[in-house]
Amino acid sequence: MGFRNLQALNLAMLAKQGWRLISNPNSLVAQIFKARYYSHDDVFHAKLGSSPSYTWRSIFNGLEVVKRGTRWRVGSGEKILIWEDKWLPTPTTYKVISSPKSFNDYPRVSALIDRDTRRWKGDVVRSLFLPFEERTILNIPLCHSLPEDQIIWVGNRKGEFSVRSAYYIVGVLDTLERGVDICDVCPACGMEPETNCHVFVKCEMAKRVWSCWLDCPILLLNVNRNIVDIAMEILESGSSSDLEIFVGATWAIWYNRNRIVYESSSQIRDHIWGFAKKYIFEFKSASTACAQSLSWSEGKWLAPPPGVFKINADGASSDGEKDSSVGAVIRDSAGNIVAACCKYLQGQYLVEEVEALAMECGLLLAKEQKLSQIILESDALTAVNSVLAAGNSGCLGHIY
Ligand SMILES: [Zn+2]
Repeated sequence: MGFRNLQALNLAMLAKQGWRLISNPNSLVAQIFKARYYSHDDVFHAKLGSSPSYTWRSIFNGLEVVKRGTRWRVGSGEKILIWEDKWLPTPTTYKVISSPKSFNDYPRVSALIDRDTRRWKGDVVRSLFLPFEERTILNIPLCHSLPEDQIIWVGNRKGEFSVRSAYYIVGVLDTLERGVDICDVCPACGMEPETNCHVFVKCEMAKRVWSCWLDCPILLLNVNRNIVDIAMEILESGSSSDLEIFVGATWAIWYNRNRIVYESSSQIRDHIWGFAKKYIFEFKSASTACAQSLSWSEGKWLAPPPGVFKINADGASSDGEKDSSVGAVIRDSAGNIVAACCKYLQGQYLVEEVEALAMECGLLLAKEQKLSQIILESDALTAVNSVLAAGNSGCLGHIY
């Protein structure tokens, strides 16, 4: 999968800067930020502060993603809060589930470790946690030197930060948390409140869809978690194509749920699953085709003369679907991209129409960028001729 969402990519890149502050706390940059924004704490508890610098404000946004993609690795346990922090090796929350008990004034993980024997205090752990969690904790290996606790990246198996895995996290956070508008009661079953976990996992409708996924890398049907955490677990135990399937099927479940709400019709399980598979397949073929046509056209593309900008515009409408899309890219004489945009259009247009709308999209973009010396290039002959004829009485005249 390429990076198609520039905003998400930007956030993932900022997360990388945030990650550097954690992995390289002694760097000059990290020390300057620490002195100014989190002098008495770690970077995760940093505040935006009053009149923050532009750089800090940007990194601060990226830190949200870093928080999602990291957990503590227990060294001495002195920095880790038992009930608040993520420190258990259990995807997907990495947090303690057992309810908090009053236990010292200092509920840090170090209180569970015997400094003399360098082992877990078995009796204390047993008294505080549920049996399965007790086992998990006692199985966490401790290093004899009880080194400082470390933040590690959980977005991939190596524990190394990667922009790609951060990008996935941003994408999942974005589409599944912010974009979802939830009803009171689940419209699919009418039985339970429509929480994020219910609609995508717990609902009978969702369960039936997931049962189609025979080689799912995790036990999806038994989870009781947030959808983002599930995605994280899949990212850890499976491959990126597993995550694609997961996101595709989640989207198909949501799409079906909207059909129930807005069109009073629902699909059967196999259709929803088939829809997801088809969607992923088409998305991938489109991405490949896109990459091929790009390399093909790069050979032919001619840069505009100095001081002039060239707009390349194109549009597409699909046969079966009720929508179209247009896109345009503006490059300077050195071939550098100056601006680009793409738009989703609600309506299935004819090829000629969509090409004209694409040119319009390119011209509006040039106007927005205040570029006056421009060349508009399109591969749609009819549309180009219509523009050159400068007639404005046809059904597309308003666009030309
Ligand atoms: Zn339901």
